[in-house]
Amino acid sequence: MIIDAHAHLGHDFVFEEDFILENLVSKMKENKVDISIVQPGTVLDLKGVVKQHNAIAKLSKKMPGRILGMANPSPHLLKEDYYKELKRCVEDLGFVGVKLHPLAHAVNPKGSMGKKVFESAVDLGVPVMVHTGTGGPWALPSAVVPVAMEFPKLKIILAHSGGSMYSEEAALAAKLCPNIYLETSWIPSITLLSFGRNIGVNRVMFGSDHPENIASELAKYRTVGFNDEELEWCLAKTAAKVFNISITG
Ligand SMILES: [Zn+2]
Repeated sequence: MIIDAHAHLGHDFVFEEDFILENLVSKMKENKVDISIVQPGTVLDLKGVVKQHNAIAKLSKKMPGRILGMANPSPHLLKEDYYKELKRCVEDLGFVGVKLHPLAHAVNPKGSMGKKVFESAVDLGVPVMVHTGTGGPWALPSAVVPVAMEFPKLKIILAHSGGSMYSEEAALAAKLCPNIYLETSWIPSITLLSFGRNIGVNRVMFGSDHPENIASELAKYRTVGFNDEELEWCLAKTAAKVFNISITG
């Protein structure tokens, strides 16, 4: 069983790239990915993000149980607009989480925009994935620590685990906060192994970020020396636990 915790669909208006549906679906098939958790590209306006959330919901209807949504409305939207759209995603479309991108949306996790995301997620009962790595100081793993401590029951996933540059800081954040989990796209192989051994495989999850990365990200996990049980956790069970996905049936 393979769950990709970090996939995209739609246009990213900040990084100016397109995440194409056919590419997502064909690479999932090629690499035997069972479930992808799909978020939009970075969108700045409400109308635009509604459209992308709807496209993800449409795909998940077409591929039931295999595509799950993660919302990403801009935290700069008015609080009522932000909350209403996130609530719609979670309650009407069945999305399983929300993304916060401190770099792309220019948000300080500890500031009032960040608070909007974390408080809404607590209220709606979904975990928050936070981009970490490029885009310091707000995208540093340490910027998430005070929030993780303020909301100890909220599950927070550090996308990219701080990237290779700040992976030590991500590991430290995860050591300090039991509610922090590590998604490992773009992370060196040796660092993956150290996360698994020092933080625990039940805190580490596979993510690709781009369909072209799926094969190489999976190869890292499969070649660093994890045993079958450890691999099961990193490739599916951790994400299933964090996002409350049933993988028994
Ligand atoms: Zn991404």
